[in-house]
Amino acid sequence: MDIHLTRAWVQAIAAAMDQHKDHLTQLDSAIGDADHGVNMQRGFTAVVAALDGYEAVGVGDVLVKTGTTLISKVGGAAGPLYGTFFRNAGKQLSGPTADAEQLSAAFDAGLAGVQKLGAAVPGDKTMVDALVPALDAFGAAARAGESDAAAAEKAAAAAETGMQDTTPLQARKGRASYLGARSIGHQDPGATSTALVFRALAEVLQS
Ligand code: ADP
Ligand code: MG
Ligand code: MG
Repeated sequence: MDIHLTRAWVQAIAAAMDQHKDHLTQLDSAIGDADHGVNMQRGFTAVVAALDGYEAVGVGDVLVKTGTTLISKVGGAAGPLYGTFFRNAGKQLSGPTADAEQLSAAFDAGLAGVQKLGAAVPGDKTMVDALVPALDAFGAAARAGESDAAAAEKAAAAAETGMQDTTPLQARKGRASYLGARSIGHQDPGATSTALVFRALAEVLQS
């Protein structure tokens, strides 16, 4: 991973949020307030604008800029949570390139920030249900000496499984938790956008 690919990743996330905006909003209309697609699409559009002309010295600069922009531009739960993920991950990556093990450690720091802020654990029916399996898969591949592209492909597949596995869960965090048992049977919007984030990484790194 280098600065150019990190920018490409963020742009690919923005494109995915544009493309899947209505689906994310539809999922959030079932168990939330029908704004997750709009929140993510607006947030990443603002990130792309903020990165235009921004001079990054390290891979982490791009991710920190992404995170701080999401925190300042996106309301609701997901903006600060995703913002914290990218900002905390970025703080770990000062060099102009990052290998799979460095990325894995950075992503883990991002997850720690998400859990510190939102207090969600796996099984609570949130983005954490996609993030944890994604980062576990990424870390296992990295420790086995696989490339960042191979690790990202495994992370994307694991995030997609984690996303699907939120459907039977009852929400214990966020707005969906207000519905109690009525949240069962719906896929979590934030876990769905997390799967898009890792699919975008896999696509950018394999090309
Ligand atoms: P809001 O619920 O404020 O309208 P969004 O709709 O943009 O915000 O985001 C909702 C998503 O945020 C949920 O689907 C869930 O994945 C995630 N989320 C909500 N609360 C938490 C939390 N405490 N920890 C982790 N993720 C959370
Ligand atoms: Mg919402
Ligand atoms: Mg909202």
